[in-house]
Amino acid sequence: MSDARPPFLPCAEPATWLGVMGGGQLGRMFVHAAQAMGYKVIVLEPDASCPAGHAADRLLCAPYADPAALAELAAQSAAVTTEFENVPAQSLAALAAGAVVAPSAHCVSIAQDRIAEKRFFTDCAAASGVLPAPYRAVETDADIVHLPDALFPGILKTVRLGYDGKGQARVANREEARAAFAGMKGVPCVLEKMLPLACEISVLAARGANGQSVVYPIAQNVHRDGILFSTTVPGPGVSDANAEKAQGAALEFIRRLDYVGVLCIEFFVLTDGSLAVNEMAPRPHNSGHYTIDACVTSQFAQQVRAMAGLPLGDVRQHSPAIMLNILGDLWFEGESDQPREPAWDQVLALPGANLHLYGKEDARRGRKMGHVTFVAPTPEQAQASMRAACEILGIAV
Ligand code: ATP
Ligand code: MG
Repeated sequence: MSDARPPFLPCAEPATWLGVMGGGQLGRMFVHAAQAMGYKVIVLEPDASCPAGHAADRLLCAPYADPAALAELAAQSAAVTTEFENVPAQSLAALAAGAVVAPSAHCVSIAQDRIAEKRFFTDCAAASGVLPAPYRAVETDADIVHLPDALFPGILKTVRLGYDGKGQARVANREEARAAFAGMKGVPCVLEKMLPLACEISVLAARGANGQSVVYPIAQNVHRDGILFSTTVPGPGVSDANAEKAQGAALEFIRRLDYVGVLCIEFFVLTDGSLAVNEMAPRPHNSGHYTIDACVTSQFAQQVRAMAGLPLGDVRQHSPAIMLNILGDLWFEGESDQPREPAWDQVLALPGANLHLYGKEDARRGRKMGHVTFVAPTPEQAQASMRAACEILGIAV
């Protein structure tokens, strides 16, 4: 694979602009990385007070499918990326007429659709060595009648627009599946067999337009109430064999997709030690935030390099790390609605603590407000700082 176009060098005259679809915290951290390298960044996002908008050089405040805004974004940007996987794939296709778009509309559209994604993983299985959980599409009540018994207990998930465990229901049997499907208001769903998980891991890979590919160390993730709680790298539940297998699979996926940019793949480690692939996110990912403080090249700097056609950066992790997500719950006293301010001064006194807050104005329970990454000479020391922070912040460990 080769691509003859020259890289979009920062600080060219006139200053080179990079574009982002979406204004959330991933966009904000992308803006920081791009600006650090000398680029200007334009963000397209309908919410005027979005986290990325505060940091961007320019905010185009418009719906993601607004034709005039898309034309303006493409005209101003040398290359455009997305920080939000539910951006309409058609918008990315439209942008591609006027700018480099990475990842492509095609790659994003596969990740937006759980069925297309699982078909893709299954098609790759001979080379990747990993399969998704057994599943069936559920689009009508009649589909529920024909579901194999072996899929229960299972998880019913909407095919599109799910995140942080939203749009999914655990179902013990066919009756519960019927009720849950009715609750999804007729949107297409998929029923997945509930797998016995030993732990969850994710892998970030990145690929340039010239085919250069890199893969980061394996992250071990803990979820609470469907939301990522912590990411530990290196993770205690990751064998060398599974690390190699997951990294190999990630590289196979980005190659097969002809992907350009950063891609995150989530895997399950099952109780028998085998691996299953869960889903992919066509962008930097919450479980990759540790790379900001613990790797030579962060996932956001890597995204800049990939979309600008620059050489990819070193993915080496220089320190063991634990990332702790900070949810809006911390701005309330216990279970009450009594407001409080988390004791960041005490958290920042802990060894190796790096605080990242996303500038969101109102804290709501379950809303991602920021994260803290603890880096240390050893995994045990990172763990000790993380536990001490949980104690200070009132988070049950
Ligand atoms: P994300 O925030 O990662 O986008 P999501 O809402 O897209 O999450 P999934 O990652 O598919 O949803 O599922 C959320 C969590 O539910 C998983 O991290 C895992 O803990 C659990 N889970 C999902 N599918 C299965 C399964 N087939 N077997 C067992 N547990 C599962
Ligand atoms: Mg997930």
